Amino acid sequence: MASETILLIEDEKNILELVKYNLEQEGFRVLTATKGNAGLETALKEKPALVLLDLMLPEINGLEICKTLKQTEKTRRIPIIMLTAKGTESDKVVGLELGADDYITKPFSPRELVARIKAVLRRSQEKAPEEILRSGTIELDVTKHELRLKGKPAEITAKEFELLRVLMSSKERVLTREVLLSKVWGYENSVNIETRTVDMHVGQLRKKLGKEADRIVTVKSVGYRFDGE
Ligand code: CA
Repeated sequence: MASETILLIEDEKNILELVKYNLEQEGFRVLTATKGNAGLETALKEKPALVLLDLMLPEINGLEICKTLKQTEKTRRIPIIMLTAKGTESDKVVGLELGADDYITKPFSPRELVARIKAVLRRSQEKAPEEILRSGTIELDVTKHELRLKGKPAEITAKEFELLRVLMSSKERVLTREVLLSKVWGYENSVNIETRTVDMHVGQLRKKLGKEADRIVTVKSVGYRFDGE
């Protein structure tokens, strides 16, 4: 378990130092942030193995951070342990509903915290096996959020990635623009104008797939289909 990265978002300096010290003693690499914005940015950039999240933070509170991380494709699999103050029952409940994996109430012993972290990491590794979708020379690594063509990482935006993931997950099945809008963009009951968004993104995605572009087949008046092998 050594050298896994943990992001600690906590504005109380003494807690921050204490936790950081103890986690480093356990062999973890520890990144820290004392404000909400910086914490969120670091999480998105570094994709740590786990986030320790204080709920009462300046700028963006912990619940908002939790919600954002769990709604973002890149970070939604990162387990979160909330650091909560006594007497904030409702925050705990909301946090768990938003997708946090566990919480620990202050004051806590470093040893207890380390045990919780290890348990959560173990659980998350069990429930999230590596997921890679493949067709021809395309490899869509959902775990790493990476597109590879002939084994080389290729540039792709978050929406294009999600679009390709949805298409590749339903190989050989036609997906209507409405279904794609709902699955990729989260739009329900879309109007005609929005379906152009799908066409535009499919166009961009095909360019990025190069020689594999033909795998995304336009099904006239219906939508799109991904052809596998
Ligand atoms: Ca705080």
